[in-house]
Amino acid sequence: MRLFHVKHFDVAVIGGGHAGAEAAAAAARRGARTVLITMKRAGIGVMSCNPAIGGLGKGHLVREIDALDGVMARAGDRAGIQYRLLNRRKGPAVQGPRIQADRRLYRDAVQETLTAQPNLTILEGEVVDVELRDGARIEAVVLADGSRISVAAVVLTTGTFLNGVIHVGDRRAVGGRVGDAASQRLAARLAEVTLGRGRLKTGTPPRLDGATIDWSVLDSQAGDEDPVMLSFLNRKPQISQVACGITHTNEATHAIVRANLSRSAMYGGHIEGVGPRYCPSIEDKVVRFAEKTGHQVFLEPEGLDDGTVYPNGISTSLPVEVQTDYVRTIRGLEAAVILQPGYAIEYDFYDPRGLTLALELRNLSGFFMAGQINGTTGYEEAAAQGLLAGANAAALALGLEVLSVSRTNSYLGVMVDDLVSRGVSEPYRMFTSRAEFRLSLRADNADQRLTEFGGQLGLVGPVRLSAFRDKMANLTAAREVLSTARLSASALTAAGVSISPDAGKRSALQALVFPDLTRAALEALVPEFAGFDAATKDQVCNDAVYAPYLDRQKGEAEALRREEAAEIPYDFDYMALSGLSNELTAKLTRLAPRSLAQAVRIEGMTPAALTLILAHLRRSDRQRRGEA
Ligand code: FAD
Repeated sequence: MRLFHVKHFDVAVIGGGHAGAEAAAAAARRGARTVLITMKRAGIGVMSCNPAIGGLGKGHLVREIDALDGVMARAGDRAGIQYRLLNRRKGPAVQGPRIQADRRLYRDAVQETLTAQPNLTILEGEVVDVELRDGARIEAVVLADGSRISVAAVVLTTGTFLNGVIHVGDRRAVGGRVGDAASQRLAARLAEVTLGRGRLKTGTPPRLDGATIDWSVLDSQAGDEDPVMLSFLNRKPQISQVACGITHTNEATHAIVRANLSRSAMYGGHIEGVGPRYCPSIEDKVVRFAEKTGHQVFLEPEGLDDGTVYPNGISTSLPVEVQTDYVRTIRGLEAAVILQPGYAIEYDFYDPRGLTLALELRNLSGFFMAGQINGTTGYEEAAAQGLLAGANAAALALGLEVLSVSRTNSYLGVMVDDLVSRGVSEPYRMFTSRAEFRLSLRADNADQRLTEFGGQLGLVGPVRLSAFRDKMANLTAAREVLSTARLSASALTAAGVSISPDAGKRSALQALVFPDLTRAALEALVPEFAGFDAATKDQVCNDAVYAPYLDRQKGEAEALRREEAAEIPYDFDYMALSGLSNELTAKLTRLAPRSLAQAVRIEGMTPAALTLILAHLRRSDRQRRGEA
């Protein structure tokens, strides 16, 4: 479509990946006249790698996107073919909802949502240039066909496409992902307007023909019996559910990989970019975990009507014939046919320390950046940034309140703060360990943290707001019932709770902190509570269990902040700290930060690691004073 009549938009979003889709939808929801410009309209919402959404840390981001009425969770629920709540046996703070998605249904759901979004125009085209006013603010974007669109704000979400180079063995091809052209003209232009460009890489496994897999010899893993949806608005799966297969690599697989390492793009010296350590390729696994004789491989169906299978755990950049050889050493895959070889991609990213917390370039007003281009990896990380950047591009264009998030209210806040203050030296992925306040930043309470605020900003529509307010009314009523019911120590003892007989009466809400108070016993003690729906009861119990820890956690974080000035001796022995990961030990030893404040800024540093270092410093200090 050529734009002959409308040549001005409030917001232009460049790119239709996961960041672009959320950015465009968010800007439009806030009332900005928005255009989404992307190289391939049919590619909007495509999952370039794993057909899965959510997980630990990532699931928290998906819930936060949903709490702000974004696209990802609802689209995911339309495509969810297997639901698993990860860490189900641990507490809700570290549980992460995850789905395996039907790739086509997910893409269709995103495209339908965007097509139906008021204020949003979708345009197929390649942006090749940006025009600036006085070199300091964005004025227009220019497409490859010469059209010029004037804009008040731009959100750049070009993912792995800027100067993208695809590697399979020693073969290299310019491309944004397999089947897509790279974006080179824009990359050249951006190098002039923004600072700090670097190279990163990521990889993907070969895709297999499911009909050539011997499923009969494999273990299988089904989804949860009581599936937890991605979106707060949904209650149950919308389509059939499937199991995935489980198999393992073995010594024969590793021998083939080892013998061909020099032919791997990643190990053969063909790639300069840094890859994600925590998402290792099969080459990485064989080298880094040489002592292991096998690695688990999940065989994930890509869809209900799609025979393609995604073998999760064997991403690679080895030559195609080597991929076939090693795949066929794996149990159940002896006759497997590769439909699309695995590959690695190397691409430009920009130093996110050049951005504000609103994800706007500090030196270029109206120019926002979100997604993989900021050095992150993953659909969820991209989508969450997209939502923030889109909402704030609309704020700038229309003079609205900025969507500001912080480490205390969201994982999105943790991620953005990490990116803009610490930058990245490897692809950034969300983990629960990155959040100091993870007991309060739970996936199950993302709506309580964000939805009302999103409503005030005009980001959250009336349907969700009304569903949320109904939910809160139920929660308040259920809490009221529990806080007015007074339980004596003898009643609690009779209900199986270990409590001192001298303990005074307490409310049923306070009694929820006792781990041995079962739900059935609680309902027997407070029959009025039994009448609430299951979701309300679960939520009240989760919130109450965590309540006592929250103040303590805030206090600890405050203390840590006060201690940041503490000096670290130059010969501090990080190896002597038990509980510190090998990666952090190596990094800290190499960088030798001179103060806790410097250590805080080291990428990958976790609150738990800082607490360990601090405790060690205090101990040494006490010892020194004792000796003196
Ligand atoms: P993308 O989804 O890449 O979207 C970029 C969009 O920009 C595309 O729509 C493109 O058409 C458009 N575009 C680019 N240039 C222009 C232009 N000049 N004009 C107009 N439109 C343009 N993540 C993981 O978490 N784990 C993994 O194991 C993993 N492996 C991956 C392997 C590969 C090979 C690839 C390619 C990605 C992998 N990812 C992985 C990353 C994940 O796919 C991305 O993090 C996520 O898709 C990034 O979303 P995005 O919106 O930032 O960019």
